[in-house]
Amino acid sequence: MKIGVLALQGDFAEHIDILTQLGADAVAVRLPDGLNGLEGLIIPGGESTAIARLLHRWELIEPIRTHVHDGMAVWGTCAGAILLANDPGDLDREGLRLMDITVERNAFGRQVDSFEADLSVPSFGGQEYHCVFIRAPVFSSIGPRADVLAQLDDGTVVAAKQGNMLATAFHPELTGDTRFHQLFLEMAAGNVVPIDIARGARPA
Ligand code: GLN
Repeated sequence: MKIGVLALQGDFAEHIDILTQLGADAVAVRLPDGLNGLEGLIIPGGESTAIARLLHRWELIEPIRTHVHDGMAVWGTCAGAILLANDPGDLDREGLRLMDITVERNAFGRQVDSFEADLSVPSFGGQEYHCVFIRAPVFSSIGPRADVLAQLDDGTVVAAKQGNMLATAFHPELTGDTRFHQLFLEMAAGNVVPIDIARGARPA
């Protein structure tokens, strides 16, 4: 299965390593042509303002939207999630506007306020998922078309899914736990992934 990782800025190399380890054909994507034939695309963490600028400069916005509408799966981690959001908070230019989520950038403060947490992800069953948050956004509201996948103890939404699109505020490429990458490969293969939302999890 061919999966692209947007390689304009940020930690794309780590995603390529994990995808390769899981047996996918992982390729770095820098130009619109690189989207052809992909079953999935990962937009990595980094700096959303820089990635947005480069997406516009290399004329990738419309081609990515078109491929996603045509069925390519897409996953944004941290800055990548900001770029997927319909409402990307104070991002200084237009992002991809694909997912029915509102993000608040840098919601936990500055670099020093980065942290790690063990979260229960209902779709993964019992074992908690160790999450690394680096100047992370939160998903301050989730529209009716998206589902909540994971929340902090206080109810803050940090992972969401909408059809063939996935967004995580944290960095699953940094911990060695491959369950989110496996979930994304299932989505890219077109398999229906059960979403097990905690009752009452959806914020108002
Ligand atoms: N704070 C960054 C932004 O707003 C995201 C940080 C990250 O991707 N780790 O783009």
